[in-house]
Amino acid sequence: MCGVIGIYSTREVFQDLYQGMLAIQHRGQDSAGIITYDGRFHIKKGNGLVRDIFTKEHVALLKGNIGIGHTRYPTIGGGSGEDAQPFLVNAPFGIMIGHNGNVVNYKQIKQILLSQYHRMLNSDNDVEAILNVFAQELESQQTHDIAPENIYRAVEGVFQKIKGAYSVVAYIAEHGMVAFRDPYGIKPLVFGIREDGSPPSYAVASESVSLDLMNFKRVESLAAGEAIFIDRDRNIHRKVLSDRPHSPCLFEWVYFARPDSFIDDVNVYKCRVNLGRFLADEIKKQDLKIDVVVPVPDSARDAAIEIARRLELKYREALVKNRYIGRTFIMPGDQSRKSSIKQKLNPIALELKDKNVLLVDDSIVRGNTARSIVELVRESGARKVYFASYSPPLRFPCVYGIDMQTTKEFIAQDLNPDQIAQKIGADKVIYQSLDSLKQAVHLGNEKLTQFCGACFDGCYPTHDVTPEKLKEIEQERTEARNNR
Ligand code: SF4
Repeated sequence: MCGVIGIYSTREVFQDLYQGMLAIQHRGQDSAGIITYDGRFHIKKGNGLVRDIFTKEHVALLKGNIGIGHTRYPTIGGGSGEDAQPFLVNAPFGIMIGHNGNVVNYKQIKQILLSQYHRMLNSDNDVEAILNVFAQELESQQTHDIAPENIYRAVEGVFQKIKGAYSVVAYIAEHGMVAFRDPYGIKPLVFGIREDGSPPSYAVASESVSLDLMNFKRVESLAAGEAIFIDRDRNIHRKVLSDRPHSPCLFEWVYFARPDSFIDDVNVYKCRVNLGRFLADEIKKQDLKIDVVVPVPDSARDAAIEIARRLELKYREALVKNRYIGRTFIMPGDQSRKSSIKQKLNPIALELKDKNVLLVDDSIVRGNTARSIVELVRESGARKVYFASYSPPLRFPCVYGIDMQTTKEFIAQDLNPDQIAQKIGADKVIYQSLDSLKQAVHLGNEKLTQFCGACFDGCYPTHDVTPEKLKEIEQERTEARNNR
């Protein structure tokens, strides 16, 4: 998971990019980068958070009315600064690019680019593969002036060659900005317009919250397989280049996206409230005696409030989060994950002592976090600890850009909820059903009927994820982790 923003503005873009990137910092905390254009490209990339990488001096350095910003969370490749996005290629014309997603056939593409087109990839970042395929597709058309049809043909070439999930924004020097979403629209991408001149400014971003903060209006999601081209005269050209079923990632609404964002026109907060409502019905069936509902901050809050309201139970924020520790799930490497959980949450024992506590969290992945939290709550004197997850059991690797790519990571892989309860030390574990999760999203946008829920049910929408492919990805992932 990463966050990407592209702006084609009427004014200097650095400040806007910086603000927009802060708003999607949660999508990747490993590295960040900005490339701007004012007749030449200006680049600054580095490891760490946006606020640490960019300083006042970059206002003068990153000049131009056009730019791409990126916050990275590594899936392919390690966490080195060299792998930070955006990326740049000199020919044809000069192209910069940033993306969110994961290229499933990255190794094969890397090999083809070298052997057939003599293009060497100089990083382990899969966006470089997309960039070079796109550049090659454009170059092969031998055109001096780029028309929308040239762009569409190049994007179709990317769709044919690049497998996986990817939402992309690129800028071709002196020709225009391009944004596209993979044929299944797995990763989010929104487009907005700011009426600040004639012609106006345009932007795309992973989440609508970035565009809100930059005052872009008329924000809408790109369709699955849609390409947008803003040409040098700032005319907008749009075309859907795929007829595959739109299958957005369900985990965006569960965990990744900010509650104030709209993903595919579904408000994330509202969706989480609905998830709370559905889960409350599930909990009711269990006939448990619960004294207090406690969310695991922050993502579970919206669902937990709704559960408490619906079951007419007391709601207490009895776990206090240290905001200066990174999100544990998103931190690369299992060791850093384990050590940070301990420092992350502090219980308010007064609210837990002698109570039957219902903990609510967004999901249970490996079970390490859940086990530590249950332990904390028990140490605070709770009588019973029930654990409710407002997403279904996670059982399968995500090959589309999330750091859960090895089967053995999932506690629910071989265990049922009662066995999981035993393993994490809870008195009961209650899960949301996959149907309820789909229904909660569908309520926000009736047009959405298909989804990627592969990490829950093993059905990969791109149909090219074979057991051998999963094994290969698992191996690559393990190697990458060991090298960090
Ligand atoms: S496998 Fe899960 S996390 Fe990955 S894209 Fe699909 S729903 Fe999202």
